[in-house]
Amino acid sequence: MSSPTHHLYVHVPFCRLVCAYCDYVTVGGRGAEIPRYADALLAEVAMRPASGQLATIYFGGGTPSLLPASAVARLVQAAIDRWVTDPTEITLEANPSAHEIPDWAGLRAAGVNRISLGIQSLRDAELWALARGQTAAEGLAAYEAARAAGFANLSVDLIYGVPGQSEADWRDGLCRALALEPDHLSLYALQLALAPDEWAAPPRRGALRWRQRMVPRQDDGVAAAQYEVADELLERAGYLHYELSSWARPGFESRHNSAYWERRPYTGIGAGAHSFDGETRSWNTRDLDGYLAATEDGERALAGSEHLEEPTRAFEAVALGLRRVAGFSRAAFAEEFGQDPWERWPSAVEEQVAAGLLEVAGDAIRLTPRGRLFANEALVAFAP
Ligand code: SF4
Repeated sequence: MSSPTHHLYVHVPFCRLVCAYCDYVTVGGRGAEIPRYADALLAEVAMRPASGQLATIYFGGGTPSLLPASAVARLVQAAIDRWVTDPTEITLEANPSAHEIPDWAGLRAAGVNRISLGIQSLRDAELWALARGQTAAEGLAAYEAARAAGFANLSVDLIYGVPGQSEADWRDGLCRALALEPDHLSLYALQLALAPDEWAAPPRRGALRWRQRMVPRQDDGVAAAQYEVADELLERAGYLHYELSSWARPGFESRHNSAYWERRPYTGIGAGAHSFDGETRSWNTRDLDGYLAATEDGERALAGSEHLEEPTRAFEAVALGLRRVAGFSRAAFAEEFGQDPWERWPSAVEEQVAAGLLEVAGDAIRLTPRGRLFANEALVAFAP
């Protein structure tokens, strides 16, 4: 019998500029420390247990495309040696900026076979509103350069719900992106947290003031209409809507992200990276200096861990299962938790079905198209 699949996430926190809306673990102005950080990542690969078959590697950030291709190659090889398996999907997030052009050919040679490009918008007014420090032309150039280097699996990220971005603007930007024929699109609603939750990086003071100015200019109604426009346009263009924020040409769904939604075990390395072994979640310190110091001392820079009790695991099965447009299997849930989800939460299921947010279709429980707009509301009823 083959061993279960495993997944590796590599966090690279460096960014040329830190965007005011960003909640990820990032640092600006410390690019000189990238070689030292790459060595620390290699040291962490060597000290973490390697179980299962490594199916995917995902370099996320921050801006992983700031890593030299030679460092990516060393990390990929170290992971292959550690797990003694060749992953089928190796993704790297890249920023399309003329100030930070990646060595696309070097990344291909390093084994990366999927690029996720943070284009965010192909309209300069929106990039300006987001203070992204990049232009639409740079986004197009990065896309073309990655394709020309032979990347056959390209994903682009776009943001909607941007203050001042009308439904027509969004439609126009999306059509420009579709003209590129990407293999995958991730569409995110701009979230401007004034009091971020415990997992998000606290905003710097300037970023908080920027968010306070922008939040009153956001319009949830426009964002909902933009989401529906995306659904319609992308379906017509032949994309499969397979997760709340993700559309793919058939066969190009993100295997790495799908593993999160299927609650498969993964190892996260780097500052702030989370890991999950099926029952326990653990996370590294977000502090770059603390991460470097601990790892260079030969220790994992562990900041905390949490054993997930049964009610939390059952809730996460619902929360992550409902992120998938196909929903989740009642039979699989019953096998893991000993009870059909409808029997476990009869009023939650029936109320959300009556509200038009949820549907039960044979073995599957899933959100309706309207429920995808109000996913958080639908989930509250299942919370432990
Ligand atoms: S949005 Fe992307 S580029 Fe901007 S700070 Fe966050 S990770 Fe860096």
